[in-house]
Amino acid sequence: MKKIRVLVAKPGLDGHDRGALVIAQALRDHGMEVIYTGLRQSPAQIAQAAVQEDVDVIGLSSLSGAHRTLFPKVLEELEKRNASDIPVIAGGVIPSEDIPYLIDKGIKKIFTSGSSTEVLADYIQELIDPKTKSIEKPHKIAHIGIAVESIDYALPFYTDSLGLELEMVEQVESEGVKIAFIKIGETRLELLEPLNDSSSVRKFLDKKGEGIHHIALEVDDIETRLQQLNKQGIKLINEKAKTGAHNSQIAFIHPKAANGVLFELCQHERNED
Ligand code: ZN
Repeated sequence: MKKIRVLVAKPGLDGHDRGALVIAQALRDHGMEVIYTGLRQSPAQIAQAAVQEDVDVIGLSSLSGAHRTLFPKVLEELEKRNASDIPVIAGGVIPSEDIPYLIDKGIKKIFTSGSSTEVLADYIQELIDPKTKSIEKPHKIAHIGIAVESIDYALPFYTDSLGLELEMVEQVESEGVKIAFIKIGETRLELLEPLNDSSSVRKFLDKKGEGIHHIALEVDDIETRLQQLNKQGIKLINEKAKTGAHNSQIAFIHPKAANGVLFELCQHERNED
């Protein structure tokens, strides 16, 4: 297959390019051809180089704080050269509040200093060749798990006071819990009652009391996603999926990877809603 050609460019006046050089090398290590423009390029020079070098994607890096004006200018210069089809991604020191603005201007994706080069390389690969896309992003919140001492005592708040519908109650022996699913729109609340002392929900209740226990994300192809997270260095509680409620396949991500929040990945059988 033809190698992906990437133009790495630093618009503006800042004089540091160590970050850009690290990224250029990481992309080369992933089998891409990288052209680096060097420091202090104008948006016009960058667009011109992209057209001349016939690149597949442009990666802009900025540490100077001028990204709000310079990045959109690069897009304008590409348009002048009928080259708007070249996707532009960006990274560097970019405050999160500027990201929606830049995406709105037409930058495809912003990588911040916390992003891994592994993720960046995968993203470029999938952008240029969508066939290589391994997985879709999570579709929705499948449910929010709430630890309770007793489902019977907890239920009236949800079903009577809030008027929500109890969908099913089930025991999941592998987790040592009884669970009640309460339907709310597209998603569910999952009440978790421990069945025995070795249940992790029992330990949670003893330590923290009743309350939100986890958030479950609905995903496709849970095994591929677990492998991908593992590759990215995300700490997992379960490296392999196990059977959860209603024959779903589930796995937990370690709260250390997610600001102290316990996330569950949840894949339902195809014929279910
Ligand atoms: Zn759950």
